[in-house]
Parts: sequence; structure tokens; C-alpha cells
Amino acid sequence: MYDFEVERIADIIRAKGYSRVSLQFPEGLRDYAAEVVSKVEALTGAEVLISANPCYGACDLADEAAAKLGAEALFHFGHAQLLGKTEIPVHYIEVRLNAQAIPLLEKHLDKICKRVGLITTVQHVHLLPEVKEFLEAQGYEVHIGEPRGRVRYPGQVLGCSFACAKSIAGEVDCFAYIGSGDFHPLGVALATAKPVVAFDILHGQVRSMEEKKERFLRQRFASIAKAREAKRFGIIVGEKQGQRRLALARRIKQKLQKLKREAYLIHLAEITPENLIYFRKLDAFINTACPRITIEDAPRFPKPMLTPQELEIALGERSWEAYEMDEME
Ligand code: SF4
Repeated sequence: MYDFEVERIADIIRAKGYSRVSLQFPEGLRDYAAEVVSKVEALTGAEVLISANPCYGACDLADEAAAKLGAEALFHFGHAQLLGKTEIPVHYIEVRLNAQAIPLLEKHLDKICKRVGLITTVQHVHLLPEVKEFLEAQGYEVHIGEPRGRVRYPGQVLGCSFACAKSIAGEVDCFAYIGSGDFHPLGVALATAKPVVAFDILHGQVRSMEEKKERFLRQRFASIAKAREAKRFGIIVGEKQGQRRLALARRIKQKLQKLKREAYLIHLAEITPENLIYFRKLDAFINTACPRITIEDAPRFPKPMLTPQELEIALGERSWEAYEMDEME
């Protein structure tokens, strides 16, 4: 189902003469790690390590830890390249999903508006050209945004970048998401204010994001309302290379101090309720690291956790109508 490009990995290892490498998988692909390692070791004779720290994006490479263990290269699975300089060479295996999108679209053409934007994640970017061709043959006007910022492929979105969708939002009446899961299409619905229909080709399901969007906004409103009364804020700075926004965190701290609120910069790699629970005297957290944590995991935290834009709403600097997703350059 997934393409782990084992032959290509073996070719790279042989061509570069690597004798020890490390493989880094996001959690959703770890079931396949043992099989990939066995094949790579059998094909190359190299020693293959597996990095098991949590990993949610290419913003978080295990290159430094792998180098310390003597690995000559890191193979990072499931994401497209995002960072530049690394401690050892990093090879990206994007892991395309071998699946068909058109049969599901064909059954649900009535759910797509006539001027449609296509969006997806890296696992499915290879499907967009044929989806576009198919929909155009059915009389649809189809747009796909060009990559920009931290995104590498036309139509691709990340949990911290919806730039591809926003760039074409003025030309379309809705978006069709080709992929799986609800986080990315929900993000596009919030970032563009356009209706989004998710075509989940992994599970053969079709979902509108409208109801989820309303529920999500109600939850965020409740957190923002609680944070309005906060006197002491923890401002979270991510330690992972592609999540560090110390300058932004400092600006937020200064702003809060001017408003006579206490503010503290807290740095950590894994932003979990367990790692923050003992800051019992803080009233709220502002997360400048991965925005997906605030959006997906906020209900698990013991105190309100806001994005920088949500803090602006809590402080009365931004109207609720101007709600925006937190995105990274
Ligand atoms: S910052 Fe978060 S959303 Fe962005 S690439 Fe990293 S893990 Fe994904």
C-alpha cells in the first residue's frame, strides 16, 4: 500500500558507501519499520538503526542523535524536505500511498462545486494531476496552488502551512481534499473560509468539514475566553529545529508585560500535558512551536493553550471574526 522505496534506499547506501544508517519514521508508519530494516540490511549489509523518539514532521529530524551513534546518514520517512543544514546527510523517503482517488470522486461528484481547488498531503501529491484531468473532463474548473514557504509540491498543505490553498482561495468556491484524516482539510476550511470536502481515499469516505469547523471554533472560543482572565502566562518555545520561534515568543512576552501580566519563556521538545502539568501557578500557555499541538491536543492540557493569534483575540487586539490559523514560514 505504501511505497517505502527500499530499492532506492539500498542504491543510496551502496553508492555512498554507508556502513551504518538510521531510519526515522513518524508514529503512523512504525508498524512497517522492522520490515523495511530487514530488507535494507539484507540488500546492503549496512547496520540499520531506528530512531524511536516522537516525530510528527520534517521540522524534527533525528540527524544529531543518529550522528552521535555513528550513523553516516539519516533516512527520514513520510515527509518532504523542510530544513536545510543537517549534521549528517538526510535522505527523504516521502512514502507515497498506492491508492486510487478517481473511483471515490466519481461516486460523489455532486459534492464538488464547479470552481474547485485541490489540496492534499505529501503521501498523495502524485494523484493530483490525474484528479485534475478527470474533473476537467467532467466540466469542472480546477485550480492547484503552487508550492511556497515550507511546502514543496503543488497543492500540498502542512499542519503549519496552508499557503497553497490560500493562494488560490480567490479563484475557487470550494476545496476538495484528497487524502486521509481531518486535520488538514479542517485547517484549509479555517484558513480560507471556503467549504472543504475531504475525500478519504484510504477509508473510502467523504466528509464535509463544515460541522467540524463549527465545533472546533466553539472549543477555541471557550479556551480564549478562559485565557482572558489569565494573569500568568507560559510562552512555549519549541526546541525542535523547524519549530523554534524564539523571536516571536519574546515579542509576546514583552507585550504581556506591558499589559501588566506575568510571562515566562518555557522551552521544551515534547509539548505534552505531562511536561507542563507542574506549572500549576501559571494560568495559560501560548504555544509558538508546532501549531498542530494547539489545534489537535489543546483539550488534553490542564490550562488553556492558545496560538499567538488567539492570544490577540483574548487581549482584544483582534476580532473573533478575524480568527486565523497559526502558520510558519
Ligand atoms: S511544525 Fe508541526 S505541522 Fe509543521 S511540519 Fe512540523 S510537525 Fe508538521
